[in-house]
Amino acid sequence: MTGPAMIIVGSGEAGGCAAVALRDAGWSGPITLYGEERHGPYERPPLSKELLTDTGLPQARPSAETGRFDELGIDHRPNSRVSSIDPLRKEISLQSGEKAGYEKLLLATGARARLMDVPGSEYALTLRSFEDAWALRHLFGAGGHAIIIGGGFIGLELASSAVKLGGRVTLLESRERLLSRAVPAELAERIRQEHIARGVRFHFGAAVSRIERRAVELDNGERIAGDTVICGIGAAPETALAKAAGLVVENGIVTDARLRTSDPSIYACGDCAASVHPQFGDEPMRFESWQVAREQGALAGRNMAGASEEQCIVPWFWSQQYDLHLQIAGLPDFGNSSVERPLSDESVLKFYLDGSGRLVGAAALGNLADLARDMRVAQMLIARKATPDPSALAATERRLKTLLAA
Ligand code: NAP
Repeated sequence: MTGPAMIIVGSGEAGGCAAVALRDAGWSGPITLYGEERHGPYERPPLSKELLTDTGLPQARPSAETGRFDELGIDHRPNSRVSSIDPLRKEISLQSGEKAGYEKLLLATGARARLMDVPGSEYALTLRSFEDAWALRHLFGAGGHAIIIGGGFIGLELASSAVKLGGRVTLLESRERLLSRAVPAELAERIRQEHIARGVRFHFGAAVSRIERRAVELDNGERIAGDTVICGIGAAPETALAKAAGLVVENGIVTDARLRTSDPSIYACGDCAASVHPQFGDEPMRFESWQVAREQGALAGRNMAGASEEQCIVPWFWSQQYDLHLQIAGLPDFGNSSVERPLSDESVLKFYLDGSGRLVGAAALGNLADLARDMRVAQMLIARKATPDPSALAATERRLKTLLAA
């Protein structure tokens, strides 16, 4: 294959799905996907869960789409760091000195784990890559006491994995509650209770002032000693390449609803991109979600191949801690009233409606078998901008999917 190339920087889920979508949408020229890691695209959700606890030999597994690179003639270059972009020449440079020209370029550079800004922060382990998970698997396998900083998804899923393997956990959170960025308070409280029942010890309002290899010091002078210190205090978008190339960057590389950056030949998607979601207003928003990365990757690929589609994505994510499943769809934070639908003795689904009665978010916690079907319907209702009757949402005798016909 010769002629102009499509270049993708970043071989995570977003970049991988974009490469496949480009080919599926009919682009027959070269597609090159550069990734810094030594692996091809692999699924990250298992890194904090099964990859740590399952007995088999862990592998960096591709998803169904990204396992098709050979068949589709996609040139994946691992161990390749792109060091700069020249938007005028439409050319990228690699750290190796190699250069490559592009017809269109996609930035799918992802995010990196935030680090603490305190003395000794280098002693805290983080979780982002397969290698990070491999190191944690070793440590958790040895049991012991893990001190986890951050009560978000990484911190809580790691706590669950460590406990499953027989370890002890102390978790330090700077706020007064868990999962404050994405999960409604009442569900976060039930998650806290589940961890407490499993023996996890929490410190809320904790201000870490110093980290040692096996201990953490708080600003009230308390010292907590353990065997491992892990930090899960959020992720920062990888925007350095975009900034240096003069693209507009805010909390992520800014794109329109078609995922085009301020340079019409350059697209961005996934964890690194702050993009306009027309369903939720004009402000660019950045989601750190596996499903958004995949859907945006596929859309970017189609648009690079010549389509002109705006995104219409209902963000969705899930977490599993012990036997407790959490799913969130849409943006519960955009709601100003909520309706509860009990699903069983263990499971509950909450709907969030905005001032006009539009359903903007849903969150469910409990058994997967109870909540999966209704959450799929909730996602469809949110996508349709439905304004369901709140009493119908709460009425368990009425099947939720009947509201799709309304
Ligand atoms: P996160 O979900 O944003 O949670 C980080 C938590 O740490 C927040 O509660 C944060 O509070 C707190 N925190 C921040 N600074 C702190 C400090 N100095 N001391 C103690 N606590 C502090 O981020 P994460 O858990 O690190 O996850 C990173 C990325 O992986 C995210 O993109 C996440 O979506 C993704 N991930 C997702 C899943 C899933 O969807 N199931 C699972 C694993 C990872 P503030 O809000 O006040 O900063």
